[in-house]
Order: sequence, then structure tokens, then C-alpha cells
Amino acid sequence: MRKKRQVIIGNGAAGLSAARALRRVDPSSAVTIISAESYPAYSPALLPYYLSGRIKESGMFIVDLEFYRRNGIEFMPGREATAVDAARQRVTFKDGSWLEYDNLLVASGGSPRRLNSHDGYMARVLTLRTINDARKILDTARRSREILVSGAGLAGLEVVHALNRAGRKITVMAKSRQILSRNTDPETAALIQKEIEKTGVKFLLGCDVTEIAPFKDKIRISTDNDERLNVDMVIVGKGVGANIQIVKDQVKTDRGILVDERMRTSIPNIYAAGDVAQAGSLLTGGHEVFANWPSACFEGEVAGLNMGGRDARLPGEVAYNILPVYGWSAAFMGDSMGSRPAIEVLRWSDEKNGRYRKLFLENNRLVGAVLFQEIADVGIILHLINRQADISPYKDKLASSPIRWGKVLHHLF
Ligand SMILES: Cc1cc2nc3c(=O)[nH]c(=O)nc-3n(C[C@H](O)[C@H](O)[C@H](O)COP(=O)(O)OP(=O)(O)OC[C@H]3O[C@@H](n4cnc5c(N)ncnc54)[C@H](O)[C@@H]3O)c2cc1C
Repeated sequence: MRKKRQVIIGNGAAGLSAARALRRVDPSSAVTIISAESYPAYSPALLPYYLSGRIKESGMFIVDLEFYRRNGIEFMPGREATAVDAARQRVTFKDGSWLEYDNLLVASGGSPRRLNSHDGYMARVLTLRTINDARKILDTARRSREILVSGAGLAGLEVVHALNRAGRKITVMAKSRQILSRNTDPETAALIQKEIEKTGVKFLLGCDVTEIAPFKDKIRISTDNDERLNVDMVIVGKGVGANIQIVKDQVKTDRGILVDERMRTSIPNIYAAGDVAQAGSLLTGGHEVFANWPSACFEGEVAGLNMGGRDARLPGEVAYNILPVYGWSAAFMGDSMGSRPAIEVLRWSDEKNGRYRKLFLENNRLVGAVLFQEIADVGIILHLINRQADISPYKDKLASSPIRWGKVLHHLF
């Protein structure tokens, strides 16, 4: 009997979790992982640690080549898929060859957004997503004293921390009037910015790069508010766009590939997971791209189980991110911007020790939180957001730190 062909495009957290789950429930089908890159799976979340020198390149890999052999997975590194033909059930490669599938998982992740104006300066205008990107950044940074980071999101600020050395001048420029504009409210953002400024980093907010041009041995940056800046390198950290191109004309897409709670796309034997997928949100009921490592693992696992014939579901996710820099951490969970009109805010701060937290409630249910400096109870708060339990009797206990969780949880269980 012909083996069922399970094909996975992408060798990151989502693709690998899917392959693992698939093998657990379906030992007999043929499983293939295709990767545009030439390495075994690694974690992009560790790239800033590599840039800062805290770990070696080898410390980023989560499996070795033996993993694929041991699990009977055919690994196709260095092969870029260029199209999917859903009618013929084929994945086509750059060289014109193709691979047939019975089930397909698209776990192709995302690509950093670029500046429109940097063509011709690619060598010193860089982005960070892959090991190859990190190698280029390290190589260029060695020869750079003045660095511009364009974008003030989580990954951009992690890069700032990783490259911040004595004798280097780092400027962060962002179009928004606050840093972390997709993660938190202006008050929290200002607090975090102040903390980073203490290390000598300069912020130029509310302006954007309009032109990049050569200037002697430097790069000259012009902005839309007439600032001029001469730097040695630029790192673009303006967020990530989902890699949907290969299936865009085949399945329903929005910002990512739209999936149901089984990670199925609009075509039943094509699944999507990880940064490329737009999955159900527990809080809004809509669909969002949950671009973080745990979500990629959960979504990949659910996709793999379903591809293997099980009925697995992920009913709704909650966004979750941590910024661990300069010896302190900030955690952002759920609606951590407090953006919905009906939201009630429980705010607590300890200015002397720089500790601060905000919990966002809607209809007496926890829908989001920001924790700064003291983040040990992230897991409990995430659990409460996921449970959507009525916490009205314990509100007074929540506006403190550390929260006396024993009393709250005792009543909830
Ligand atoms: C600098 C940085 C810091 C981060 N920090 C954190 C953090 O602290 N915490 C956190 O939770 N998350 C963090 N993230 C995000 C996290 O790394 C991602 O959410 C996660 O890795 C997504 O996994 P994925 O499998 O969806 O995609 P990826 O890991 O991007 O994997 C995509 C795979 O698809 C392959 N691929 C793409 N296109 C093709 C194609 N056409 N053909 C064949 N193969 C293809 C790629 O080669 C790759 O193997 C960070 C990311 C970055 C870049």
C-alpha cells in the first residue's frame, strides 16, 4: 500500500512541532520537511543572545541532523518552495522540480519588513530573522561605531541591547510616538524607554527614514522631520510580514493564512501554523497572527495531530511576549495595550525599586497585563486570562506585587 505523504514547508518551531506530533500518532506515513535554509531547526528567539555573545551559534540549534533520521523524517534543507498547486497537490521548487503531497502544512514563518529606501545599501542595511542575518550583523557591527535601529518593537529593542557596547552610539528611530507601540500603552512604553536611555541609547520617535545615501565612508539617513544622521550601519526592525506568497492564490489569507481551530486552511488538506498563520483569538473571537515561539509550537502540534488523523483543536490563543534586556524583564500578555473602551485598569507601582504592573479587566475578567521588573507570576496571570474567570471579589488583591495568589486561586478553584 502506498504511504500517505505528509509534507511540511518550514523547519522552525511550527514545522518541527507538527512533525513530532505527526510521528507520535502516525508512525507509518512518509513525512518530509522542506526548508529554504540549510541548517537543522534552530530558534530565532535566541538570535539576540548570539549577537550579544551570550551563546555560541551552536547553542541556537534545537535538534541535530540525527533527529530527522531517528524519527524517519525526510529533511530537505536549502530547498525554497515557490508555489503550491492545490488542485494537483504539489509543492513546486525554485529549480522547477516538485513534490506531491496528501496533506500539506505551510509553516513558512515570516520575513522582516524592509525600508523602501535602502536598495543599494543592503550590505550595511540589515534585518534579523535567520542565522545568516545574524552572521552579517555581527560581521558589520565589528566595524561599526554608530548604529541606527529603525523600529522600536520587541525584536528591535533586543538587538539594541545585544549590540550596546561601550564606545558605540545607538539610535532608535520609530514612526510611532512611543516605543513598543504594538505591545503596550504610552505610560508603560515611556517607563521602559527611560530605563533603556540610562544605557546611553538615543530615541528619535515620531519620525521615519525617507532616504539612505552614501556619505564619505558613512551612510547618511534623512528623515521626514528633516533630521540628518550619519551612521555605519542600519538595522531594520519594523516588524514581520507572514510568508504567505506561496499559497496566497490557493487558500484564504488576510495578514496571514486564515486557519480554523484545527489549523486547517480553506482547503481541507492544507494546514498552516506559526508566524505564517492567522488563528483564532480567545479574547476577540477574531483572527490574529500570534508571532511568538510558544504559539508556533502549539499551533504546529495541533496541525500535526490533525494531519495524523486525530481530532485536535486550539480553541483560541492569547498573545504573550517577554522583553528580557539589561538585567530586567517586561512581560506583555493578552490585550496589553488596554485599548478596548470598556477596559478597567488595576495599576500598581513601586517607584523606589522601579517595579510596575498594570492589569486590564473587562467585565471583571482579566484580558491583559503588563509587568515590569517583577514577572515571576506571568504563568498564573496567563492562566487567568485563558480561563476568563470572574475575579470581581479579588480585585483589591490584584493591585499589588507580589500578589497573594494563594488567596485568589483558592477561591477560583
Ligand atoms: C530576533 C527575534 C527575537 C525573538 N524573540 C522571541 C522571544 O523572546 N519570545 C518568543 O516567544 N518569540 C520570539 N521571537 C519569535 C519567534 O522566534 C517566532 O515566533 C517563531 O520562531 C516562529 O516559528 P515558525 O516556525 O512559525 O517560523 P520560523 O522559525 O521563521 O521558521 C520558518 C521556516 O520556514 C522556512 N521557509 C520560509 N519560506 C520558505 C519557503 N518558501 N520554502 C521553504 N522553506 C521556507 C524557513 O527557512 C524556516 O525554516 C523572536 C524572533 C526574532 C526574529
